[in-house]
Amino acid sequence: MKGRIVIDMERCKGCGLCIIVCPKKQIEISDQLNKKGYYPASFKEESEQDLEKVKCTGCALCAITCPDVSIEVYRQDKDDEKDESEED
Ligand code: SF4
Ligand code: SF4
Repeated sequence: MKGRIVIDMERCKGCGLCIIVCPKKQIEISDQLNKKGYYPASFKEESEQDLEKVKCTGCALCAITCPDVSIEVYRQDKDDEKDESEED
């Protein structure tokens, strides 16, 4: 199972909890300030097109942990083109 996350950078307060919990270490703090003046979290594999190289498993630990509900998780099987969305 492969995963991909979308972080709402304007909602994020840069607390770093998602970075701590990600078992694949695929989240980092951005060097760009958001409108609230925080450095938000950023998904390292944002622009990775090769599914074979993607390390995110779509485990959703980051989304569950985020106190600001700023992360959406999408999962994709290698053989399945269908995306599953998990929002909270
Ligand atoms: S879904 Fe899991 S593996 Fe992917 S970024 Fe979030 S915590 Fe990391
Ligand atoms: S847990 Fe949520 S608020 Fe905290 S850095 Fe991650 S996305 Fe931002």
